[in-house]
Amino acid sequence: MAPLQTRSSRRVWMLRAIALPLAAQLPAAFAARNDAVRTALKYQDTPNAGNQCSACAQFVAGATPQAQGGCRVITQDTEISPTGWCVAFARRSA
Ligand code: SF4
Repeated sequence: MAPLQTRSSRRVWMLRAIALPLAAQLPAAFAARNDAVRTALKYQDTPNAGNQCSACAQFVAGATPQAQGGCRVITQDTEISPTGWCVAFARRSA
């Protein structure tokens, strides 16, 4: 029978071997799209006549200016592009 320290080390190694691949997929697992509301509001990933999400009062910015963010109108969606647009666009006041 292996000493307690060795068995414990093996257990830790096995847990890491299982957990690391799962952790690598977490951002994808938490990403979400609300396709029903996107469609209803005619959301697109490109600007419209110079208007885009990053200039909209409803936009919730991501970690960087280029990162995908959220929207207070298209709820439960974490993949709103800062260069996107929809019919609910409302220019943020300066
Ligand atoms: Fe973009 Fe429309 Fe949301 Fe404004 S309301 S941030 S334009 S998706």
